[in-house]
Amino acid sequence: MNRYNHLNEFYKKKFGERVLKICIDGGFTCPNRDGTCGTGGCIFCGNSGSGEHLNSLHSISDQVKNFFHSYKASRANKFIVYFQNFSNTYDSLENLKSKYDAALIDERIIGISVATRPDCIDDAIASLLHEYSNNYYVCVELGFQTSNERTAKLINRGYENHVFVQAISILKKYNIDVITHIMIGLPGEIKEDLNQTINFLNQQDIQGIKIHSTYIIKNTKLAQMYQNKEYIPLTLREYIDLACFTISRLNPKFIIHRISGDAPKELLIAPEWNLHKKWILNGIEKELKEKDLWQGKCVEFSKTL
Ligand code: SF4
Repeated sequence: MNRYNHLNEFYKKKFGERVLKICIDGGFTCPNRDGTCGTGGCIFCGNSGSGEHLNSLHSISDQVKNFFHSYKASRANKFIVYFQNFSNTYDSLENLKSKYDAALIDERIIGISVATRPDCIDDAIASLLHEYSNNYYVCVELGFQTSNERTAKLINRGYENHVFVQAISILKKYNIDVITHIMIGLPGEIKEDLNQTINFLNQQDIQGIKIHSTYIIKNTKLAQMYQNKEYIPLTLREYIDLACFTISRLNPKFIIHRISGDAPKELLIAPEWNLHKKWILNGIEKELKEKDLWQGKCVEFSKTL
C-alpha cells in the first residue's frame, strides 16, 4: 500500500508508463537577485539558483541532446523537460518561447515543467505556456516555502502570500497544473508554522507539492547564520517526524513530487544526513507504517494542533 501519492504512480496513470525528467539550466536569473524585487536572493539559495548539478555551459538544446546520449535516456521512453534553476519565466515572451522551444527537440519529450516565482507569472506568460498544452503536458512549479509572512521576510522570499494566490489563479485560468515547493526546518519555524502552511496549501487549487528539507550550502546567508549559531538545522529524526506529520495532514488529492532535499555534496555544509536520500525515504516509510499514517489521514485535525 502506498501511504502517499507518489509521482511515479501519477505519471504511470497519466502517461501509461514511466516518465523521467530532463533537468535544464535555461540561463535565467531571478528578480530576487538582480535588484528588481530584491538582492542577495533567498537566504538558502546558492549561486546556481537551486540547480547546482546542472551544466549551464551548454546550450539548452545541447543539454537535451547530451541527456539523450547518456545512459539515463535508456531508463524510460517518455520524458518531461524541467527548467529548474532560478526563475524560468523571468524574461521577455520572445526569449521565453525561444528557450522553451529549444528544449522540445525530441519526440520522446511529452511535457514541459517550469520552476519559477509567483511574481514572475502574469496572463501573457500563462497564455504562452498554455499554447504548449496542445502538444505537451505543462506544469509550473512555484517556490513558496512557507505561509508564515514573518518567516518569508526572514528568508528574504521577496513576495507576500497574496502574490502566490494570485499566480495560482492566473495559471488555473489557463488550465496549467501547479506544483508548490515547501521547506521543513526553516529558521524560527516550529511545528505550528508548518501546520499553518499545510492548512493554507490545502485550500489552494494546486495539484502537487515538493517537500524539501532545509539544508545549508556554501556562500549563502543561511551558512552565515549557521556559522554564527543563529540557525540549527533539523536532525534526521526531527525531519522524518515533521515530514510524516506533513504527509498525514496534506490534502489527499495532491501528488507528492518530493519528500526530501537534494543537497549538492560538494557545497553542502550541514546537515550531513541530507546526502543520504535512502535514510530519509526509508525512515519516512517506516515511520508512516509504525504510526499507521497516510496522506490526508489527519486533515480534519490540522486546524486543531
Ligand atoms: S526565488 Fe528561487 S532562484 Fe530566486 S533567490 Fe529565491 S530560491 Fe533562488
